[in-house]
Amino acid sequence: MRDERLFPLFQTLDALPGIGPKLKPTLEHLVGGEHVWDLLLHMPERWIDRRPVDTFDALVRGEVATVQGEVHSVKAPYNERAPTRVELFDGTGFLILSYFRADPRWLQGQFPVGKERIVSGRIDEYRGERQMSHPDFVMDPAKGEFPPPVEPIYPLTAGLTNKRVHATVKAALDLIPDELPEWIDGPLVEKENWPTFKAAMQTVHAPTEWDEDAINLARTRLAYDEALARELTFAKARAARTKRPAPAIPAAPDTLNALVKTLPFKPTGAQIKATKDIMSDMAKPHPMRRMLQGDVGSGKTLVGAFAAVQAAASGFQTAFMAPTEVLARQQFDTLDAMLSPQGYTVAALTGRDKGSARQSTLMGLADGSINIIAGTQALFQEGVAYKKLGLIIVDEQHRFGVVDRMKLAGKGTAPHVLVMSATPIPRTLAQSINGDLDVSILDEKPAGRQPIETRAIADDRIEDVITAVGRAIQRDERAFWVCPRVEVDDEDGSSAIARAAMLREVLGVPVGLVHGRMKGEEKDAALEDFRTGRTKLLVATTVIEVGVDVSEATIMVIERAEGFGLAQLHQLRGRVGRGDKPSFCILLYRPPLTEHARERIDTLRRTEDGFEIAEADYKLRGAGDLLGKRQSGLISYRLIELEEHADLIPIARQDARLAVEKADKMSKQRAAALALLSQLLSPDLTFSD
Ligand code: ADP
Ligand code: MG
Repeated sequence: MRDERLFPLFQTLDALPGIGPKLKPTLEHLVGGEHVWDLLLHMPERWIDRRPVDTFDALVRGEVATVQGEVHSVKAPYNERAPTRVELFDGTGFLILSYFRADPRWLQGQFPVGKERIVSGRIDEYRGERQMSHPDFVMDPAKGEFPPPVEPIYPLTAGLTNKRVHATVKAALDLIPDELPEWIDGPLVEKENWPTFKAAMQTVHAPTEWDEDAINLARTRLAYDEALARELTFAKARAARTKRPAPAIPAAPDTLNALVKTLPFKPTGAQIKATKDIMSDMAKPHPMRRMLQGDVGSGKTLVGAFAAVQAAASGFQTAFMAPTEVLARQQFDTLDAMLSPQGYTVAALTGRDKGSARQSTLMGLADGSINIIAGTQALFQEGVAYKKLGLIIVDEQHRFGVVDRMKLAGKGTAPHVLVMSATPIPRTLAQSINGDLDVSILDEKPAGRQPIETRAIADDRIEDVITAVGRAIQRDERAFWVCPRVEVDDEDGSSAIARAAMLREVLGVPVGLVHGRMKGEEKDAALEDFRTGRTKLLVATTVIEVGVDVSEATIMVIERAEGFGLAQLHQLRGRVGRGDKPSFCILLYRPPLTEHARERIDTLRRTEDGFEIAEADYKLRGAGDLLGKRQSGLISYRLIELEEHADLIPIARQDARLAVEKADKMSKQRAAALALLSQLLSPDLTFSD
């Protein structure tokens, strides 16, 4: 139930003056919500200093300035394309206001000769004259009018001016109750010298003076509000989880050691550490919710296999879910080869399984004879029942919708869940982004991995690259060739379809093709052909980004590489270098490179460390963009700018955990205040059950 004091903020936007049925949908679209509160969360992207400057001769070209002068003349344009010129004089010189396609008579009314006017706008120079084209503000000082000393500038959408948005936000500010209690811990507010919530909102949206420090302090306070609300939600979810029962599955060190002895390699330190985290989570009588974050090739499958073995040792089943048919089959092959010899029964289930084969798998799951099952979403469809499901492992987690995860968590009695993600996230951000999940990081490459040699080659040398690919195929190696587009209707041949046809002709070998427009089964078949070696060259769009593991592949060509993001290039490169032969990643680019494209390519040539690349990406693009689209659903901050405010998150987490753990010892006032905050800013939980 919402607190009455917040009712004014949860009115629909048309409660605000000037917002009628016409503007309402436009404003809703802009602020991403229908309430007054959503508008208040629409933060300015910058602030313009509109304090008056003394004199015209002090004006600086290119800057926004506010000045006062006397109207000297209004001159109609001398031809259609010329502007109407309003000349202002202030004793130190002239300033020309130019108005294109304006009605001169209307302008004469606005600018009566001999009267004073205050104008604010960008100063330009045209043919040696100081000019201001279409001032943002024109005001009459005789009426006591002044532009705001600081003007917040908002992200806009067609149909809304900044003035309109600002005026509407100012009306919304008045609806924030004056008597809201402080929800942040008192000593922290004092130490940081933070303004109250309402004062912070006012400073951000309607500053009365130009004071950047005050604006930043207000933004920081609001960011902390959001961080605290999020962490409270997560802390509560965590607390609720530790009250729900789940089977306690004891660690099985002897069984794991027996498995380790059969491996052709030693687990890395990071794999061991992650396994220990998981072991102790599963041994607790409450559901595990852990994310295993590790770069491509860091060996997440093995960690998953260890967890599955721990479950099996106590008679529990594990469901290992992959986002695609091909990845599920691949997962099955790996697990089956590793675990069947140890006496575990491993099976696969995907949408492709039909008839009696499917029936017998379903029976094995129901009677408990299958220990470990790899599959797609089919693992959790109607009619699939498990005897004793103890662990769910979700691979390449970001490919799953929230709904899938929900459905899956509803199966069985709150089993343990491990999600695995290959999207590298800067270490500093991993915990804050994953919210209510615990995180283990695999930050160590398995030993003996061949480095991948990364080369950047201008695309006028494409023939050399084709020759190199041809030679690799003759050595019985395999190559990927990634194109930026599917379409045929391009002039440079860099579409997947055109490139596949061209390579087939030039090289005279079978060439596979996968792209996003193909049906699921066609894609799977093409990938399967490549995996088994029926085709040795695979032309693809970025659909092959995730997971495909073909150890014979030694060349990754990425065409028009300058157009790809850093994370994506890194993921693509990770498809090679999985075997014992030297591998190459060739970034074919079209010169000239922009500065950012050059930096992306240089970063990629410099390092193979996904976390380092993620940090670089984060610096180049900012966290919002890095995570925005790829991880949408995992993160959507309104007030936090991660680049500036990431440090606040651990403090908020600490405070929130304390608040939840010591809820009974907290003062009634603080508890009530925190409840208010949660109503304002608690996030939609992305992973909960
Ligand atoms: P990813 O984290 O991308 O899922 P995989 O689990 O597919 O990585 O592992 C990539 C490859 O590394 C596999 O061929 C696997 O057998 C191998 N591997 C895993 N752990 C180790 C290790 N500790 N030492 C050497 N190779 C390993
Ligand atoms: Mg994997």
